[in-house]
Amino acid sequence: MSAVTLSGLSVTIDGHEILRPTDLTVESGEWVTVIGPNGAGKSTLLRAVGGLVRYAGAMTLFDRPAAGLKRRDRARLLATVPQTPAVPPGMAVLDYVLLGRTPYIPPLGRESPADLAAVEAVLARLDLAGFAGRRLESLSGGERQRVFLARALAQGATLLLLDEPTTALDIGHQQDVLELVDQLRRDRGLTVLSTMHDLSIAGEYADRMVLLAQGRVVATGPPRAVLTEALLGEHYRARVRVLDGAQGPLVVPIRPS
Ligand code: ADP
Ligand code: MG
Repeated sequence: MSAVTLSGLSVTIDGHEILRPTDLTVESGEWVTVIGPNGAGKSTLLRAVGGLVRYAGAMTLFDRPAAGLKRRDRARLLATVPQTPAVPPGMAVLDYVLLGRTPYIPPLGRESPADLAAVEAVLARLDLAGFAGRRLESLSGGERQRVFLARALAQGATLLLLDEPTTALDIGHQQDVLELVDQLRRDRGLTVLSTMHDLSIAGEYADRMVLLAQGRVVATGPPRAVLTEALLGEHYRARVRVLDGAQGPLVVPIRPS
């Protein structure tokens, strides 16, 4: 089964075609990472898949036409962790993660014991049980990132859309978060569509990468096919060496001599 198929999907904002007509398939269980320079359209692509921005063209989610899905149905299929989630001031971790259960709570209803149990299970899984009563603002960047992930998981969706999930984190916390996502992917059969800036780390985790430049897919394939000196030089205007790493290519910036 395909988790996502895009056929000629494009996004136009204020008369500018920010995402050119794009074809992309993400198979169920796959981890696909979109890379590309600032402003390439990575977040826009994820927002389109998440139903957060208007698009033209066709999309299916788990082989169902996305156009026919109600908001609640879509929220049960996919969960988005945006690049900079809005954090309601004063909100406790438990209440924030409980927001992930919204698609299961009837209008004007309250959360059920099953919703609370689902949230508690996710908090325990992400080592956040001790943080349930803490205010979100009081957490460190790495802890907060785990809470954003917890909210997405509490939503019970099997497709995770992660927009630069590790950009604010130090290298150790980056690895923690990505290992966790990968483990959840294996345990729960999740599909992951992410964007990432750190190319070496992106290549270590992705099954497949998509290089976007100026709203267009310019390369797609396994990390070794996309993380090349030629492609990165052309589309990022970057001077890099690509070395052979055990888990994938390692991209090293080189200062011009
Ligand atoms: P990326 O995530 O790759 O850095 P984005 O998808 O955020 O890029 O943005 C792609 C381009 O679209 C950028 O030039 C950005 O300024 C523009 N853009 C994104 N959202 C809007 C918007 N709501 N209104 C106008 N321009 C936008
Ligand atoms: Mg972005």
